[in-house]
Amino acid sequence: MTNAVEIGASGAKVEEKLFQNRYLVDAGRPHIQIRPHEIPSKILLSLTYTCPAGCYSRNDRGQVEIAADGCLECGTCRIVTAETGEIQWEYPRGGYGVLYKFG
Ligand code: SF4
Repeated sequence: MTNAVEIGASGAKVEEKLFQNRYLVDAGRPHIQIRPHEIPSKILLSLTYTCPAGCYSRNDRGQVEIAADGCLECGTCRIVTAETGEIQWEYPRGGYGVLYKFG
């Protein structure tokens, strides 16, 4: 029986492939920031389950937080919040961010 998360001829799981990536963190300069809020909107909450890297989570007060260190730079959160302006999104500075490894 084939596992639903297996991909490609190698049979490697998505999680295993993502683990191959490396990140160079630009300490103190996160490339994504969330607009301060008390109660998150539905759109902001949706990022906690749509981000493929799991960068968004809720804190103990129910607010949405981001840990952008593992960001894949896919742009999903940028597109989802384009009209609401709830996040500020920039590419990391040159040399920082995700380093993809395929295999
Ligand atoms: S760009 Fe993609 S991987 Fe990065 S935080 Fe947004 S949704 Fe997650």
